[in-house]
Amino acid sequence: MTWLMNLMRPDLRSLAAYRSARKEADGFAPDIGVDANEFPWPPFGSSSVQGKMNRYPEPQPAALLGRLAALWNIAPDHILVGRGSDEGIDVLIRMFCRAGIDQILICPPTYGMYKVAATVQGAEVLRVPLRADGNLDVAAILTDCTPQTKLIFIPSPSAPMGKLMLREDIVSLCRARAEQSLIVVDEAYIEFTDYPEGMLPELPNIPNLVILRTLSKAHALAGERIGTVIAAPELIQNLLKILAPYPLTQSSIRAALDVLSPSGLIQNAERRRVLVAERERMARLLLQSPLIVSVFPSVANFLLTQTVDSAAVMAQLRRSGILARDRNSEIANTVRFSIGTPKENNLVLQALGVSAEVLDSPPSLRLLSAHRGTKETTIDVTVNLDAPNFLQIDTGIGFFDHMLAQLASHGGFGLALTCKGDLHIDPHHSIEDCALALGEALSAALGDKRGAGRFGFTTPLDEALAQVTIDLSGRPSFVFTGSFPVATVGEMPSEMVPHFFQSLANALTASFHLAVQGENTHHMIEAAFKATGRALRQAFRREGQEIPSTKGVL
Ligand SMILES: *Cc1c(COP(=O)(O)O)cnc(C)c1O
Repeated sequence: MTWLMNLMRPDLRSLAAYRSARKEADGFAPDIGVDANEFPWPPFGSSSVQGKMNRYPEPQPAALLGRLAALWNIAPDHILVGRGSDEGIDVLIRMFCRAGIDQILICPPTYGMYKVAATVQGAEVLRVPLRADGNLDVAAILTDCTPQTKLIFIPSPSAPMGKLMLREDIVSLCRARAEQSLIVVDEAYIEFTDYPEGMLPELPNIPNLVILRTLSKAHALAGERIGTVIAAPELIQNLLKILAPYPLTQSSIRAALDVLSPSGLIQNAERRRVLVAERERMARLLLQSPLIVSVFPSVANFLLTQTVDSAAVMAQLRRSGILARDRNSEIANTVRFSIGTPKENNLVLQALGVSAEVLDSPPSLRLLSAHRGTKETTIDVTVNLDAPNFLQIDTGIGFFDHMLAQLASHGGFGLALTCKGDLHIDPHHSIEDCALALGEALSAALGDKRGAGRFGFTTPLDEALAQVTIDLSGRPSFVFTGSFPVATVGEMPSEMVPHFFQSLANALTASFHLAVQGENTHHMIEAAFKATGRALRQAFRREGQEIPSTKGVL
């Protein structure tokens, strides 16, 4: 792509990147590294226990790139990871803009860092305001562009309004500025929208499209400073030459791998659903404040409000110990509110004079993700007792997966469970440990609000019949009656069925009675899982704010 090289600062086109010994060793993983003048012992302090802090991190961690690439369905060589999207903005401007000559273009009101980074680099900032409807003024942008306009920054959803930019506007801008400008679409909040794929599907077709993504907002990692530039591999390779040689720390890499693990992804996705529901609730209730005139429609995790007097609003919030974002400098008398937990949101509303009576206090979230690792199995499990909207099960044992799916769907809870176990030996450890992990997760999600009631269900399935009685009593016990005519169904030994429920009862600290009769083993097992699901559904049901309970907490 010679046009890309032509866009770059001429003095950087042939820059040779810094090369560490490990880069020069080209994939060789030494047993002893005496190449980087590191300290050979770990540092003092408990946070160093997980090790490696005395060693330089991987410049672009392969495992992290791999997870991001899988998440976004692109090849890893399209991704640069650095210290937040802010670093991405910075290296793009440094790579393309000569001081005193080149320009970036922004569309105010917009995110503040584009201008700061451009000014530091000595690049001029062209400004073409968004239209009154909040969309891009494509015609005006194209009129104002010059041959020196190297980068056009477009946050989508926009900041501080939270409006998704029109795909066709971005595409036509890219096409009209082909080989002349890079169009940088900053998707910091895209995961909160109904279009989490954002502009990624256009990437293969549009060479001058660059996307910024961050783990700061939707992935809960603002404190670890991780952001990405996503673009054609040739651009990524060139940006890497001017990026700091080791931008991410060992601990930030570990944190990123955790949030991008199966459980981490589901937990955050579920929490985002809560934030989106809270955003809609806030948008409605903020209007009840005498200080708020209107609320800008938003698809992100914040709401921009038009207030009577932004300084007065900020002062009033401050008296309640609350800090919001005064956006008066961008749009007169506007204040931006990030969406917090339901409890925090209620406090914000009350501080703004919204009567406590109208605050429907939303129930706490019974969502739990856990990781369980032993020598035999590694399990990631997530349950959501209030939303059966996800079901993702992979234990490597087909029939067992099918049974767990029955348990969750009849139980009315969301379940994601992956198990990597020693199936080359037999399914015993996997089935047992899945029961323990699931029971522990359900128990923890219930918290101390577990009901004391007794729940039962009887499920017929053709000739088979299963009867279940569960008491979430806090005292584990298990009684099983029945015998299975055949020894295995699929790869699952029948004798593991009572063992599964026994382990589940232990981990749930429930007293659990199961009786199964019938002629077909498959039917009998399936009936047992369905009946257990149905009984759990009763036990987990929340009536208003309460869990059905006779005695309160046990
Ligand atoms: C928060 C934000 C960023 C910065 O993200 P980091 O990855 O934390 O640096 C970039 N762009 C927009 C529009 C933002 O709101």
